[in-house]
Amino acid sequence: MNNLNNQKNQFIILAVLLLVIGIANYFNYYAPAKPTEKIFSFSSLSQKEQKELLDGKNRNISDEDNSSSEADELSLSGNKLESDSYSVSDNYINYAIDSNGKLVKWNKKKITVFVSDSEYKDSIYGALSKYNEVFKDYFKFYTTSKRDNADIVIDVVEHFDSNDNKDSIYMAGLTNNSFSSDDKYLSKSFIKILSKKPNSNVKVTPSEVYNVAIHELGHAIGIIGHSPKNTDVMYASSNVKTFSSRDIATIKILYSNDQALINRETKNYAETKLKEAELYAKHSPNKAISWVNLGRVYYDLGKKDEALDAYKKALELENNNPLIYQSMGECYYTSKKYDSAIKYYQYAVNYTKNNEERVPLLNMLGMCEAKRDNYNNAYIYFKQAYYFDKDNEKMLNNYLVACVETNKKEEVIAAIEDYKSRHPNIVEKSFIKDVMNWAK
Ligand SMILES: [Zn+2]
Repeated sequence: MNNLNNQKNQFIILAVLLLVIGIANYFNYYAPAKPTEKIFSFSSLSQKEQKELLDGKNRNISDEDNSSSEADELSLSGNKLESDSYSVSDNYINYAIDSNGKLVKWNKKKITVFVSDSEYKDSIYGALSKYNEVFKDYFKFYTTSKRDNADIVIDVVEHFDSNDNKDSIYMAGLTNNSFSSDDKYLSKSFIKILSKKPNSNVKVTPSEVYNVAIHELGHAIGIIGHSPKNTDVMYASSNVKTFSSRDIATIKILYSNDQALINRETKNYAETKLKEAELYAKHSPNKAISWVNLGRVYYDLGKKDEALDAYKKALELENNNPLIYQSMGECYYTSKKYDSAIKYYQYAVNYTKNNEERVPLLNMLGMCEAKRDNYNNAYIYFKQAYYFDKDNEKMLNNYLVACVETNKKEEVIAAIEDYKSRHPNIVEKSFIKDVMNWAK
């Protein structure tokens, strides 16, 4: 009897731990995407600039596939700021920070880039080459023919996919970054550049593609936001062809190893992010995404009431967008208002079109119910989440905890057997062993 009680206590601790892990996982994996796609307009280079750019004589980019590893070694002493060559104070590093208040960059000096075939390949190489010229002490781009292994993939497309971005009518380029599991570094970046002007059949010129590539590559190396100044490459609708001193300072701070400098330069970031988001909302008050972004910033600043107000404004504009309901659910969940959180997560589930996207929402519904000690309901949600994503170990774990809490021994064994058929190593995990022992 005593043993059984101990075991039960162990499982309660385990369950709490798993719920915490579940939350952490949710936020890591399912927090609304960090937007790097923003409004960007076309512009053109002069004929002379275009010629200089495209003649390729000063091309400063090597092919990774043909280079020896020795040749790829870069100076590791390079990450010092030469503060005499430009003003460190004049930068927009606060705008480079993501909505969670972090700077994210590549954790390596050699960054491989796959550029898909198109008539614009030389323009894109020109942009890569420009980065290599200016930032050679910090990182260097190498082209590669291996798309799957490349750090950055650049495609030229006629139009964006419908699910790329709802506001894409004004955009000429789009960057989507992925991050390492600890969220500290970039792990992959996809850039899409339009070959036709938005809403028309007019082809863009190579020099326009060069402009877009320079800007999107800035996102791909970790500048998540936009500069507020129209003389910078990272201005949202930039016409700038060369890096300003502010662009250079910002990227050098981002890639600096001097943490004291980074801390000093970013200490007012929260204010900056808020100002930026407020400006977007003021500029485009009829776009739900403006208010979603503003809500996100408030949420990250811990201002949940203000966040909810912003999300409600977004809902008035778009009442069938699951992201808004999900964001509101998140506000209520972290405020421990589980009844409200459940209501909004349920809306989000209802407006979500495919089962894969329902998984994190069902998981959160399970979490809410578990928080309310309502394990019978939690079991239903966790089970659904697992059945929509049967290769997701964390969904399996939450489902198993719910089975333990509701005393479903046969189901535990069946679920583990099922998962094991696809992932034999699962039985090595101590949690799985414990649950199996409990069920037997
Ligand atoms: Zn941009």
